[in-house]
Amino acid sequence: MMEMIVNASAADQALRRRLIETVARRIVDHADELTLLDQAIGDGDHGINMKRGFDTVLVDLDQHAAKPLPEALKSVGLALVMKVGGASGPLYGTLLMTLGKELPENPSRADLSRAFAAAVEAVKARGKSDFGQKTMLDVLGPVSDALASGGALRVVADAAAEATVPMKAIRGRASFLGDRSIGHMDPGARSSALMVAAVCDVLEPAP
Ligand code: ADP
Ligand code: MG
Repeated sequence: MMEMIVNASAADQALRRRLIETVARRIVDHADELTLLDQAIGDGDHGINMKRGFDTVLVDLDQHAAKPLPEALKSVGLALVMKVGGASGPLYGTLLMTLGKELPENPSRADLSRAFAAAVEAVKARGKSDFGQKTMLDVLGPVSDALASGGALRVVADAAAEATVPMKAIRGRASFLGDRSIGHMDPGARSSALMVAAVCDVLEPAP
């Protein structure tokens, strides 16, 4: 019995490790792409910011993964707040720390859906922003809806990032460009879609 419990927790830890590592590597591998997107409508640092944050997450990977899921999410979130900087660091930090606060140790899909909705609300509050303003929220919102309705998360996230192209930015640096922000994908929308796809790759690998 004891052995089963030990094995179960070892398996959980390995899964957390794989989740954190896959998300972090995905962002690091796409840093140049994120920077190019931010060069078009921002200040060209989104990839650099995100890579700096996730590089330190990778350095501390074992410490993060050793914690129970809620604590692991909080510690990765805090690392992003401290290291990513820019507008996106505090916002992604808020997303993960709220998820950590809202999720139980072994969440069901219903738990995940409720916690993600709360985390998206927390990002809105932190960013004083809403859907339709050409930000990461335009991916996070549809992903939250898909979690609630059982939709295909990866497909929804990619389509939602693509749907930011014709939007006019109302929040963040891109809003300084006004109409000239139209015609480019929002960098934060892209990084959100990348993270969602990475999570899906671990939790629901393609057949
Ligand atoms: P900065 O804009 O400070 O240079 P980043 O380049 O790292 O920071 O991040 C830019 C991304 O952050 C944007 O593409 C957008 O998705 C997101 N963002 C910026 N401001 C907000 C906000 N108020 N609410 C939600 N998301 C925002
Ligand atoms: Mg930027």
